[in-house]
Amino acid sequence: MTIQARWNQFVDKCLSCRACELAESRQNVVVWRGGIKAPLMILGEGPGADEDRLGKPFVGRSGQLLDLLLSSFDLKEKDYHICNIVKCRPPGNRVPTREEAAECRKLLSEQLRLVRPTVYLLMGGTAYKYFTGSDEGITRVRGLWIETNNCFVMPTFHPAYVLRDPRKKSLLWQDFASVRKKLEELSFLPPLRIDAGEI
Ligand code: SF4
Repeated sequence: MTIQARWNQFVDKCLSCRACELAESRQNVVVWRGGIKAPLMILGEGPGADEDRLGKPFVGRSGQLLDLLLSSFDLKEKDYHICNIVKCRPPGNRVPTREEAAECRKLLSEQLRLVRPTVYLLMGGTAYKYFTGSDEGITRVRGLWIETNNCFVMPTFHPAYVLRDPRKKSLLWQDFASVRKKLEELSFLPPLRIDAGEI
C-alpha cells in the first residue's frame, strides 16, 4: 500500500473516531496540515474555534503567527507536519483532560509512525506535558533540546501565549531558529540565507 493510501486510511479513521467525549461537541476532527512525510512535527494543544470550523490546525491568530515564523525561517509545507495533542475541540477551549489526551494519543502514535519526523516542536505547556509526561513548567524547559530515540524535541511557548505577552516573542523566535539549525545539522535543509534585517 502506498504512503498516500495508508495516510488516507488513517485520516478516515480519525474522522470517524468517537473514542472520547470531545466527539460530542466538535464540528470537525482536525488531523493535520503540512506534508504527510516531514522531518519536523509541530504539536499544539488542541483545536480552537477557527480550527474546529475549518478542520485544520493553527488557522486562527495563533496560526498566523506560526505561519509568519515558518515563512521567516523558509520552512515549506513539505518540511513540517502540524497537528495537536487532541484532534477535537475541547468545549470553551478548556485544556484537554488526561483521559482525552491519552485516548487521542493512540491516533497520534499512529500518525507519528506514518509521518516519521526526526525533530519535534512542542508548542505550549499542555503539548509538552502530554507528549513527554513531564509536569515541569514550559518556562523552565523551553529552548532546551530533549534527545530521545534518535529524535530531537524542542519545547517552546504556544503562539497564543506570545500574542498575549509579546515580551516572549523573541524567545519563540530563538526556539524556531534553533529548530531550523537542527534541521540543517541533520541535513534535512540547506543553510538558511538571511538578508540583514529580514528577521
Ligand atoms: S479527541 Fe481524539 S480520541 Fe477524542 S474523539 Fe476526537 S479524535 Fe477521537
